Amino acid sequence: MSIPQSPALIEMHNVTVVRSGRTVLHALNLHIDEGEHVAILGPNGSGKSTLIKTITRELYPIFDPGTTLRLFGLERWNVSELRTMLGIVSNDIDPFFGRPITGAEAILSGFFSSVGLGAFHKVTGAMQERAAEVMEQLEIPHLANRLVSEMSSGEGRRVMIARALVHAPRALLFDEPSNSLDVTSQRELRQTMSKLARSGLTVLLITHHLPDVVPEIGRVIFMRQGSFAADGAKAELLTSARLSELFSCSVGVSLHDGYYHLTS
Ligand code: ADP
Ligand code: MG
Repeated sequence: MSIPQSPALIEMHNVTVVRSGRTVLHALNLHIDEGEHVAILGPNGSGKSTLIKTITRELYPIFDPGTTLRLFGLERWNVSELRTMLGIVSNDIDPFFGRPITGAEAILSGFFSSVGLGAFHKVTGAMQERAAEVMEQLEIPHLANRLVSEMSSGEGRRVMIARALVHAPRALLFDEPSNSLDVTSQRELRQTMSKLARSGLTVLLITHHLPDVVPEIGRVIFMRQGSFAADGAKAELLTSARLSELFSCSVGVSLHDGYYHLTS
């Protein structure tokens, strides 16, 4: 007899996505369990962000009776409810630069999926408490009253992670989180991702930067031209031969203290 299992975080079959008349995801099949930390690697334009947007229902697969896209076991979702269970950290914080938004406001605006707060947003005491809790967790209480536009890119990134955490999601999706970060901020980001993965949250990381694949991540998926090119254990896939094939150029790989690095 099989042991009953909790539903998969992501279960997709035959998912095809078309953007501007062009097929950018080709009949994808994917199964990711909760608690399984996964990195998706692939060159620019391979469809990584499109995949994230399909998971978060910003984009929809083309209709086909053989297509399924289940999240936490459910096919149909109210998008705002889904957003409370899946936090998204993209590297796009530009919208927070146009107006004078403080760190605390940026984080609280996560409750409303808005950019900053307006007079119509009713911030409750419980929301304030939760925001303080996530700032504590990410070691950023000192950023509460600073303007996001005046933060370093590393500080801004941590505020965006805190914003994604306000609903206590069950999974966090990171889309190329280390872009434009300096070396120190990259290291801090990795420590934050590790800590979150160990806290019981599922981490799904999209990157083309090998050191972002923190030791907690055991499974790696390669994406190429809108298809999954490989899926397996990190040690099997993060090799010179496999990565050279993925990125169509000759690269070397070194491993130090659980972190992989590209060497040329
Ligand atoms: P990645 O995140 O791996 O760099 P994307 O998912 O952003 O790749 O892009 C996959 C493909 O979809 C690319 O060919 C890209 O040009 C195309 N694409 C991305 N965004 C849009 C858009 N807004 N409209 C039409 N095509 C898009
Ligand atoms: Mg992208």
